[in-house]
Parts: sequence; C-alpha cells; structure tokens
Amino acid sequence: MPDTRHTRLLIIGSGPAGYTAAVYGARAMLEPILVQGIQPGGQLTTTTDVENWPGDSSVMGPDLMARMESHAREMGTDIITDMITALDLSSRPFTATGDSGTVYTADAVVLATGAQAKWLGLPSEEKFKGFGVSACATCDGFFYRGKEIVVVGGGNTAVEEALFLTNFASKVTLVHRRDSLRAEKIMQDRLFRNPKIEVLWNHTPIEIQGDDTPPGVTGVKVRHVETAEEQVIPCAGFFVAIGHAPASELVKDQLTLHNGGYVWVEPGTTRTSVPGVFAAGDLTDHVYRQAVTSAGMGCMAALDAEAFLSAQE
Ligand code: FAD
Ligand code: NAP
Repeated sequence: MPDTRHTRLLIIGSGPAGYTAAVYGARAMLEPILVQGIQPGGQLTTTTDVENWPGDSSVMGPDLMARMESHAREMGTDIITDMITALDLSSRPFTATGDSGTVYTADAVVLATGAQAKWLGLPSEEKFKGFGVSACATCDGFFYRGKEIVVVGGGNTAVEEALFLTNFASKVTLVHRRDSLRAEKIMQDRLFRNPKIEVLWNHTPIEIQGDDTPPGVTGVKVRHVETAEEQVIPCAGFFVAIGHAPASELVKDQLTLHNGGYVWVEPGTTRTSVPGVFAAGDLTDHVYRQAVTSAGMGCMAALDAEAFLSAQE
C-alpha cells in the first residue's frame, strides 16, 4: 500500500510562487503541504546577485530562496522533498503521485512548477551536455578558468551569464541571432563596457564541435542569418541562455494552456480551467517572468484557494 497523505492545500513547486503561496496558505490555517521538486528553491538558486527583489538592493539568489523556505516552514507549511510524477485533476480530492511513492490527495492545488531552460535542439548540443555544454553559468562557470566561452541568447539571462562568466573566462563571445538585445538597458551597458566580452550579431550556432576522448568542446560553428556565411569560434565552454519553457507537462492534457504551453488562468486571478486548481509564477506568465511577480501570483493563488475552500465548506 502506498503512503497516502491528505491536505486541504497541496502546493507543487518551491520557487518564489510556491513559497509565497505556502506562507499565505499556512497563515490562512490551511496546513499546506509543499512538494519541492527536483530544484528546491527554483530558478533563482542558479544565479548569483539578484538586484531587483524589493527591500534588498543586492541579495544572492540561493540565500533569498533559503530565507523564503524558512519563512514558509516557520508559518507551518509541511515542506517535502519529493517530485510529483503524476497528477489527476479529474475529480476531487485531486490526486498527486510522488516519485517517492507517496500519494498526496488535496482539496485544492496550487501549481507553481515554474519553467525549465530551453535548448537549441542540436544533436551536437545533446552530445556535449555536461562536457562543455551547459545552461547554468553559476553551476559550471568555475570549470572554465582562463578559457574561452561562447554564450548564445539575447535576453537578461544571456547577458547576466556572459557577465558572470568573465569572472573565470579569458574571453566570452555572446552570439545573438538579431542585431539588438532584449535584455534590460542597464544590463546591456554593463555588457558593452566589459572588455572581455565580444558580441557577434546576426549569427546562430549550428554545431558544437569537440573531442570524443576525453569528451570536451573545442568550438562552436555559427552561421550568419542573412549571408549564411559560416565560421568556427574556438571555445571550451558553450552556454545556452535562450529562455525557459513552462513546466506544464503534468497538466498539459487536463488544463487549458496558452502561448505554447503556459497554464491559462482567468484574467486577474490564478483560477485555471479546473475549479480548485490554481496556477502561479512562470508556469502561467509568459510576459513578466520575475521573482517578484511570481511571488505576487503565489500570494493570489493561496488567497484564491482559501476563497474556493471556504465556499465549498
Ligand atoms: P521556479 O523558480 O521556476 O521554480 C519552479 C519550482 O517547481 C522548482 O522548485 C521545481 O523544483 C518545482 N517543480 C517543477 N516540477 C515539479 C514537479 N513535477 N513536482 C514538484 N515540484 C516541481 N528574476 C528576477 O526577478 N530577478 C533576477 O535577478 C532574476 N535572475 C534570474 C537569473 C536566472 C539565471 C534565471 C534562469 C532566472 C532569473 N530570474 C530573475 C527569473 C526568476 O528566477 C523566475 O521568474 C522565478 O524563479 C519564477 O518563480 P516560480 O516560483 O514561478 O518558479
Ligand atoms: P528571454 O527574455 O525569452 O530571451 C531569450 C533570448 O534567446 C532572446 O534574445 C531570443 O532571441 C534568444 N533565442 C530564443 N530562442 C533561440 C534560438 N533557438 N536560437 C538562438 N537564440 C534564441 O529569456 P531569458 O533571458 O531567460 O529571460 C526570461 C525571463 O527572466 C525574462 O522575463 C527576464 O527578464 C527574466 N530574467 C530577469 C533577470 C534580471 O532581472 N536580472 C535575469 C534573468 C532573467 P530574440 O531576442 O531574437 O527573440
């Protein structure tokens, strides 16, 4: 018999959205269970300085998330290290199955599973993942001391990763498919001022080149988007920073989605297409995708869940 646990409010995900929902849910005496998933603390644990969390002009991402976890725990949330592998939203109580074998039943669910890094989809990218290809500069930058690195992307993540990698690399080339960045202006200024960074405009990577024994990257072949001219940039590390995709796999056949996989919510609320199921953070937001907006939506989700449960009773 699997271990079964019932809760009034199950929160799936431990980023800013999940932990904020937990703080509000616990304070509403819902005694929530929060399942952390494979990345306790969420995406901010993969970065260094966060400079736009109100109240902290600079805070380390992992520290901020550790504080959120403590806050949620102190308020009375049961925080569980597990990953939900199946979710049945067809009848109440809803049923979630954990990788641990535990089955969670819940009167209401807050989905806060966030987003995951996107990859280019090149076979050579797959081949060298973990051997020079990475999507996390804070995790892997240290391995490239004194070496050359290529970063692909043009958003805040790519710029932030390129800047961070200059702490280790002898040179960082940022490859972007257009001739302007979508990163914030303040980030662009820092990028353009950094003497270790070169930007290669209007190019896309087409092949990661490397050795087989021992496995390792030696360069990236890129192609000009208009002229189709190709060149190889020598490097030991290739960092993919082209955005994130919502982690909606668990619910893609059960809830209404929008904009290529984000969970749809009734405008101005966190109510999904199934009553009693609420969504918050990057999982539902294809526009803002910030820690503070995710936390705000986590608050809304707990309040919406509390109103739903009160109406049921
Ligand atoms: P996430 O942080 O993505 O967390 C998702 C959670 O869901 C994780 O805990 C994961 O383990 C869990 N999960 C997923 N699937 C399951 C499952 N099946 N079962 C259980 N749990 C599951 N924003 C800013 O405001 N300022 C910044 O400076 C900033 N810097 C960033 C730097 C980087 C490198 C990146 C990648 C993002 C940055 N962002 C920043 C964006 C910010 O991190 C996100 O907007 C925010 O983390 C989204 O929060 P979330 O709670 O929706 O989800
Ligand atoms: P993003 O803003 O979606 O940017 C993705 C970038 O990758 C874009 O420049 C895009 O090019 C490029 N790209 C996408 N697919 C590509 C492909 N197949 N090949 C080559 N290039 C490709 O994603 P993000 O930078 O990860 O940011 C996500 C969210 O987190 C944003 O809201 C961002 O503000 C937030 N964030 C904030 C901070 C901060 O505040 N300090 C830090 C990191 C992230 P195009 O420009 O041509 O579309």
